[in-house]
Amino acid sequence: MINKIENMRHTASHVLAQAVLRLFPDVKLGIGPVIQDGFYYDFLFGREFSEDDFLKIEEEMHRIVKDDYKLEKFTLSREKALEELEGQPFKQELVMDIPESEEISFYKQGEFTDLCEGKPSHVASTSQIGKFKILSTSGAYWKGNENNVMLQRIYATSFEKKSELKAYLDKLKEAEKRDHRRIGQKLNLFEIFSQDAGSGLVFWLPQGKKLLNSLMEWSRSMHVKDGYREIETPHIVHTNLWEKSGHLANFKDFMFICPDDEGDSGVGIKPMNCPGHMLVYSRKRRSYKELPVKLMEFGTVYRNEKAGTMHGLFRVRGFTQDDAHIFCTFDQLENQIIEVLNFAESIFSKFGFKWKLFFKGRPDKSIGSDAAWEKAESSLKAAISKAGIDAEYIPGDGAFYGPKLDFEIEDALGRHWQCTTVQIDFNLPDRFNLSYVNSNDEEEVPVLIHRAIFGSMERFIGILIEHYAGNFPFWLSPTQAIIVPISEKHFDYGREFLNDLKSAGIRAKLDDRNEKVGKKIRDAELNKVPYMFVVGDREMNSSSVSVRHRDDGDRGSVSKNELIEELKKEGNVN
Ligand SMILES: [Zn+2]
Ligand SMILES: [Zn+2]
Repeated sequence: MINKIENMRHTASHVLAQAVLRLFPDVKLGIGPVIQDGFYYDFLFGREFSEDDFLKIEEEMHRIVKDDYKLEKFTLSREKALEELEGQPFKQELVMDIPESEEISFYKQGEFTDLCEGKPSHVASTSQIGKFKILSTSGAYWKGNENNVMLQRIYATSFEKKSELKAYLDKLKEAEKRDHRRIGQKLNLFEIFSQDAGSGLVFWLPQGKKLLNSLMEWSRSMHVKDGYREIETPHIVHTNLWEKSGHLANFKDFMFICPDDEGDSGVGIKPMNCPGHMLVYSRKRRSYKELPVKLMEFGTVYRNEKAGTMHGLFRVRGFTQDDAHIFCTFDQLENQIIEVLNFAESIFSKFGFKWKLFFKGRPDKSIGSDAAWEKAESSLKAAISKAGIDAEYIPGDGAFYGPKLDFEIEDALGRHWQCTTVQIDFNLPDRFNLSYVNSNDEEEVPVLIHRAIFGSMERFIGILIEHYAGNFPFWLSPTQAIIVPISEKHFDYGREFLNDLKSAGIRAKLDDRNEKVGKKIRDAELNKVPYMFVVGDREMNSSSVSVRHRDDGDRGSVSKNELIEELKKEGNVN
């Protein structure tokens, strides 16, 4: 099934290129791969493609579908291939990239031929590409390199059935409505001042900061309960430390490095928290009795990613990780992994996320002994099975320094996000000479587990905004309740109740604008505030408020004291 849809979409990308070339013969073709949920094709074109062009291209594609051309494969020598691709410089460049030993294959449909290695394969003829739709266009550098020319990428998709295409387009529309950048603006959560401050750097506004704080405080309490000890490490450290950790050798292009009075080598702004945690572990002699040592930090890191790849909270250059490092003995590894799996489960179930686990094993190039890899992988396997979790095993996909577990969560729209990573590391303990004294008074190297659950707080909040469409649950809502006085004479009563709510730790506001009640309620609803408390004469005389809930509507009048107790319970996350 998966293969069939890939073959359909792959063939549809040829049809797209054929249609564009018919309409705009001067266009130069880039590549046209299948991606998740669809496909794209890159073109060098004198101007931007318009909505109008989309319609014409779709019309032409329908014609090609109707004519039902067969796809026919043929191969050519390099010389002949270059001739065949006369006038298509990008395709010619691709031919030159193909190793001498490999065959150069083409697929022909009607008058159109495309250089194509046939992976995934194709459907037999152009009538079988399914129901398709052009979705959008964006700029894309040739071969993803910003020194190359910018091409125009046309995104499209196809499905076997019309109903499937419609369901997908509806989902896209819903996702657009839930776009965290849009909701973030509307709810005044965050701002990114790309022009004034730089791209990918997040400014949390008061409402967003409340959201971030609620999430962090809850996460912190969960970590403490699970035996983690919170630390804080500096944002900048000597480059010597990055040299020792290997980041300078492997990660330098992503690091911000600046001069420093203390030495020639300067300081690096941390792109990761790990080396700092290694130092904290190594500051004293450790006994096996102390292990496991579980260090945790809300560590803010900066990575010098390309400006063009930034996207709201999803791709940023500065972000805070819920980062932890567990130092344990090999014998403790299995239990530690079980604990981490259970921990992740308790975090994700809070938001109603379903999740899937991927277990990534030893790659071809790796460090660490065979025995260490075997022991680590078998501990992971045992932990996964004892935790009663299904995992997909992907051999060869682990890091060169150890096997890892990746979690993918599924949001309310059925989209998948990779957040959590649990990584075993044979490398850093060595580089930092980490040790502990075992029960025979001998020095041993501890096993190191890196793990982050949310991954990036910024990105996770972006996911939450879209998951909830901004309708955060009570405990996360920046403003949990708004008091709506019917007229000015009820302001004092409202203010008194506001103080009661605040004393009870509830994030509440009083709407004392001179507006109609209806308008105040509408505004509160637009701001996605969970509770509205309307107060008038009746409420004043009975020490109560009229409760209206964002999702459940009117709940009638409730006494103030009863309500506060109820809200305290609802807001208690532990
Ligand atoms: Zn093809
Ligand atoms: Zn780490």
